[in-house]
Amino acid sequence: MTWGLYVHLPFCVRKCVYCDFPVVLWNSGRPEAYSLLLQREASFLRSSLDLQGPPATLYFGGGTPSTTPPSALKDLIGKLEALFGPFSETMELTLEANPETVTADDLFAWREMGINRVSVGVQTSSEETLRLLGRLHTRDQVERLLAQLPTLFPTWNMDLIYGLPGENLSSWQKTLSWALSFAPPHLSAYSLQVEERTPLWYWVREGKVQLPPEEEVADMMAWAREYLPSQGFFPYEISNFSRPGHESRHNLLYWRNGNYLGLGLGAHSHMEGIRWANVERLGRYRELILQGFSPVDPGSVIPGDRRRSLSDAMIMGLRLAEGVDLLELKDRYGEDPGKVFGGSLQRLKERGLLQMEGSRVRLTAQGVLLGNLVFQEFL
Ligand code: SF4
Repeated sequence: MTWGLYVHLPFCVRKCVYCDFPVVLWNSGRPEAYSLLLQREASFLRSSLDLQGPPATLYFGGGTPSTTPPSALKDLIGKLEALFGPFSETMELTLEANPETVTADDLFAWREMGINRVSVGVQTSSEETLRLLGRLHTRDQVERLLAQLPTLFPTWNMDLIYGLPGENLSSWQKTLSWALSFAPPHLSAYSLQVEERTPLWYWVREGKVQLPPEEEVADMMAWAREYLPSQGFFPYEISNFSRPGHESRHNLLYWRNGNYLGLGLGAHSHMEGIRWANVERLGRYRELILQGFSPVDPGSVIPGDRRRSLSDAMIMGLRLAEGVDLLELKDRYGEDPGKVFGGSLQRLKERGLLQMEGSRVRLTAQGVLLGNLVFQEFL
């Protein structure tokens, strides 16, 4: 069984105004204490699950994982390997990092402990927008980090966001060409989601902040999908672009509806069709772990169901340029997607949103732009 291991490191120095992730404010000593809780959770999971073989990928996401001191990170990786390993030389081991927290010593220490992919949260080239969003880094810090990072790591990613307050097509084009000047092997470009009850949501409602109109945001997406391939990037997923061989193997597991285990605050897991997530409050997580209980939120558990798994596989798989193979899904889930979703497939094909080649189905260029409309059909 192929599976990936996700570890949530929730600490951030400050919370960004658009963020609704399970984040905890960073304090000296907190990441080290939390890492011990993670180790206990990992031991508990190891003894309760029948995992065949080590994970193919390990991903430290956050939060800001780069705020965890390298010594604590190294101990944690050692413990995870003792429990779930041995880790192979070729395992993809990703760490998310924010430019303001990274030193040259961190980079060397990460490489030493086996991290071979760094995902950098850059978001935009506009200093003014970075400040508005509550991000702590500057363009200079990005430039300094990216002068060194590529010399130490075989692959890395840059995260960008478009549709930001005050942005227009021309400023997004500037951000993208600035980003490409660092020659990233992989680039993620997500449109800003204004999540309810975040400070940004209130500002937008009160008219304190203007977002670009929807049509302009659609143009930004369309432009990225036209420009990046012309610069040697393959749009292998709706929002992800990679040079050959640099796709995120961990994220591919999600999009291919594969198995993954999540450790830590609010972390999600999916094993053989069953989904669950951990509690999102640090106090509750700590209490459960220290009392020897599972930190899974009982309300989050979704039992295995072939029809639902088929639906998940369609929705996530269609995000990929490779699309989905209907025969393969039929074999995997014992339900024929051609029959279950026959009407939807036909309708979407007639509207020019899906294309079919034998048993393989993919989004068309128009389907990519109207992805949410397509995915609704498979719910
Ligand atoms: S750095 Fe990332 S996780 Fe932390 S507050 Fe900002 S958006 Fe949220």
